[in-house]
Amino acid sequence: MGLLTFKGGVHPNDGKSLAKDKAIVELLPKGNLVYPLSQHIGAPANPIVQKGDRVLKGQKIAEAGGFVSAPIYSSVSGTVKAIEPHVNPTGAKVNSIVIENDGQYEEAAYMPVKPINEMSKEEILGRIGDAGIVGMGGAGFPTRVKLSPKEPDKIDYIIANCAECEPYITADYRRMMETPELLVEGMKVILKLFDNAKGIFGVEDNKPDCIAKLEELVKDEPRMEVKKLMTKYPQGAERQLIFATTGRAINSTMLPADAGCVVDNVETIISIYNAVVKGIPSMERVVTVSGDGVVNPGNYKVLFGTNQMELVEAAGGLKEGCEKVISGGPMMGFAMYTLDTPITKTSSSILCMSKDEVSACKPTACINCGRCVEACPSRIIPSRLADFAERHDEESFVKQNGLECVECGSCSYVCPAKRQLKQAIGSMRKTALANKKKK
Ligand code: SF4
Ligand code: SF4
Repeated sequence: MGLLTFKGGVHPNDGKSLAKDKAIVELLPKGNLVYPLSQHIGAPANPIVQKGDRVLKGQKIAEAGGFVSAPIYSSVSGTVKAIEPHVNPTGAKVNSIVIENDGQYEEAAYMPVKPINEMSKEEILGRIGDAGIVGMGGAGFPTRVKLSPKEPDKIDYIIANCAECEPYITADYRRMMETPELLVEGMKVILKLFDNAKGIFGVEDNKPDCIAKLEELVKDEPRMEVKKLMTKYPQGAERQLIFATTGRAINSTMLPADAGCVVDNVETIISIYNAVVKGIPSMERVVTVSGDGVVNPGNYKVLFGTNQMELVEAAGGLKEGCEKVISGGPMMGFAMYTLDTPITKTSSSILCMSKDEVSACKPTACINCGRCVEACPSRIIPSRLADFAERHDEESFVKQNGLECVECGSCSYVCPAKRQLKQAIGSMRKTALANKKKK
């Protein structure tokens, strides 16, 4: 069978060779830990500790602030130093719990372990919610809510997003290479919730070693299948992944569940395994530190709350000439003005770029080459939408399907005139969505 994919997309230099062969290194924090109360979509968590309290590793320090929210756990033992605003990786100041690490890593009693076959669906969902798991691919949507669709019997596919299509990032690749069994065990937990669903691992074909490992692990699992995807950006975007693996299409007015699908990324599924099978709350993740602006690119297992500068230092520090540091990948991530910010549940990578890789080109007028239209996976017309956005013409923007943009950046990437298409369309899209909500 040919490789599965979607229409449009681009083939950027993937830069993955810098870190892909670097095994995951466990990093223990040195300084204070900072836990933003908003590191997920939905209501901020509410602190349940106070300044001066002693806390243990794995102790809940903030509870969910509503149904669409998630609790937060301390990833170290120590003392609460403050609850105060702190810069998060997006650059916003967010109320955060600051904990002084005592270096003892004294653990709280975790949730009691029980065989999965003896757990009801409600118990499994309860554990996922209690563990504070959110979509760790970047979206941050509370996983318990995602796994609670109105009609669970109508879910046909649980799709593990193993594409990792963003250039440079290799955290999921290392997870799949080093502990693929945790991913498969996590999928088994999710399948317990959906009687009619099949588990699909969607992996780009630039990871043949991961495909081989997963195929071996699922060969006797009738409810699981590995699907090989064409290596193309943004293959891991939710809509593109669903289309490639199932042939089903969704648009901005639909949820994946409307097409009988649930999508979770690698790190999220491993966290589900840890919570349900081992009773451990969400406290850590693997983060890639890469780019030609850092001395030793690598992959680190790191506790939430760890200062990002500590990770960059563990990777040998910034090289002279490093001009830009990005949280996330180069296509969808955002530039950071400080590394004095914590690793959160959604931090997948720190990308350090030298002058050469930073786009210094000035935008010029559109030459109507049509490349952005060809590249757009949402089948919309980026050049026209950017014009509407620049003229603040929200009505035309919406009429011409501007809301279907997935903000992948493929149009900006291919544009020879270096127009800031994604930025213009993305910002108009946010405004239009906010106005739509108000109506
Ligand atoms: S218009 Fe949106 S979806 Fe289309 S290529 Fe540009 S950023 Fe991606
Ligand atoms: S790629 Fe750039 S120059 Fe070409 S049509 Fe699109 S906006 Fe215009």
